Amino acid sequence: MTDAEEIRSLTRQLLADNPPATTDRTDFLKARFDAGLAWVHYPVGLGGLAAPRALQAVVDTELAAAGAPDNDPRRIGIGLGMAAPTLLAYGSEEVKRRFLRPLWVGEEVWCQLFSEPGAGSDLAALGTRAVRDGEDWVVDGQKVWTSSAHVARWAILIARTDPDVPKHRGITYFVCDMTDPGVEVRPLRQITGEAEFNEVFLSGVRIPDAHRLGEIGDGWRVAQTTLMNERVSIGGARIPREGGMIGKAATTWRERPELRTHDLHRRLLDLWVDAEVARLTGERLRQQLVAGQPGPEGSAMKLGFARLNQAISGLEVELLGEEGLLYGEWEMRRPDLVDFTGRDAGYRYLRSKGNSIEGGTTEVLLNIVAERVLGLPSEPRNDKDVAWKDLAR
Ligand SMILES: Cc1cc2nc3c(=O)[nH]c(=O)nc-3n(C[C@H](O)[C@H](O)[C@H](O)COP(=O)(O)OP(=O)(O)OC[C@H]3O[C@@H](n4cnc5c(N)ncnc54)[C@H](O)[C@@H]3O)c2cc1C
Repeated sequence: MTDAEEIRSLTRQLLADNPPATTDRTDFLKARFDAGLAWVHYPVGLGGLAAPRALQAVVDTELAAAGAPDNDPRRIGIGLGMAAPTLLAYGSEEVKRRFLRPLWVGEEVWCQLFSEPGAGSDLAALGTRAVRDGEDWVVDGQKVWTSSAHVARWAILIARTDPDVPKHRGITYFVCDMTDPGVEVRPLRQITGEAEFNEVFLSGVRIPDAHRLGEIGDGWRVAQTTLMNERVSIGGARIPREGGMIGKAATTWRERPELRTHDLHRRLLDLWVDAEVARLTGERLRQQLVAGQPGPEGSAMKLGFARLNQAISGLEVELLGEEGLLYGEWEMRRPDLVDFTGRDAGYRYLRSKGNSIEGGTTEVLLNIVAERVLGLPSEPRNDKDVAWKDLAR
C-alpha cells in the first residue's frame, strides 16, 4: 500500500518534472493524472494509486503550496462527482480508459440526462425509450433541467429498455454522445435570469452497446451510485472554516457596522454554528467514504446544505436592507458553473432556492432519511408490481 511519504515524494517528483510556472496547464494536469495523483483512491492507470482516499490531502497540500493549477472542479462537477464514480463502478476497462482522463483533466464536460417532464422525484417513471438496433441502441425522448448540457461533450443517461416490466426494472444506463445529430439542447431560463440548465430533445440518437454501463434492465441500480454520489457532491464539498455562504455574511457583518442589529447578530451566530456543524459533519462523512460508496447519510448532508444556504443568503439580503433588494445581474447568460461566492448577495439568495430541488427535493430526501437511516415505515407504493406501460400517466 502507498503511504503518505511515498505520495509526498511522487508529488514532488511531478513538480520537479513539470514546473507549474513553465508548464502548460493541461499538460500539467495530464502528467498529474498519469502519475496517479489525480484521485489517489482510484486504481493505478486510471489517475490513482489505489491508496486510501484520505491521502489525497497530502497531494493537494503540496500542489497548492507550489502554486500548481487545479482542474477547476466547479466547472466539471457533474463529471467528477457523479459520472466518474459510476464509470468506475460499472464501466468496462475500455470505457474507463477512454473517459476518465479527459473527464478529470477537464477537457470533456459531462451532464446528467435523468429528469424528464413527467419523471423528477418519481425518476423511475421515466419514458425516454432506448431500442436495440444491432450493436447500437436508438434513443428517443425528452429530458429536462439538464445542467451544463450546452457545454457538455458527454452525458450519463437513463432510458427505458423494457416497458413490459415494473418501472424500476426496465431501465438501462448509457453514456450518450452530446454531439450526436439527434441531440438538441434548448436553454431554460431560471429565477436568476440566466440559463444554467436546459431541456434536451433526443431524436434517433445512436449509442453503441459498448457505452452501456451495467446490465440491460439494471439501470436503476447503476443510477443509485450516481444519485448517492450526487447528494454528497452537492452537499458535502470541502470548505474551510467560515468558508462558503457563511463567510460572505460574516464579512458583510464585520465590514459594515452601520447595518448591524441585535436580532440579526443572534441569527448570524446561530447560522455560523450550524454552518460549522455542517462542515464538520461533512468531514466525518468524507472519512466514512474512504471505505466505499456513500450511503443515505449523504441525503442528510444535502438536506442541511439546502436549508443553510437558503437561511444564510436570506439573512445576508436582510442585513443589506434596501441594497440587498438590488439585483443587477438579471440578464440572459448561459454560464458553465454555479458561483455562490463570487457573485452578489441577490444572486446567492435567488440561486439557493434551487438547492432544495436539485439532486432530490427536500421532501424526497426526508423520506429517504426516514426510511433508510431511521428505519421508519415506508411510503405506500402501489405501483411496484405493475408493468410500466400500464401505469397511469
Ligand atoms: C438548479 C437545478 C439543476 C438541476 N439539474 C439537473 C440535471 O443536471 N440533470 C437532471 O436530470 N435533473 C436536474 N434537475 C432536476 C431535479 O433533479 C428535479 O427538479 C427534482 O428531482 C424534482 O423533480 P420535479 O422538478 O419533476 O418535481 P416533482 O417531482 O414534480 O415534485 C414537485 C413537488 O412534489 C413534491 N413531491 C414529489 N414526490 C413526493 C413524495 N413522494 N413525497 C413528498 N413530496 C413529494 C416534491 O418535493 C416537490 O415539492 C435540476 C433541478 C434544479 C432545480
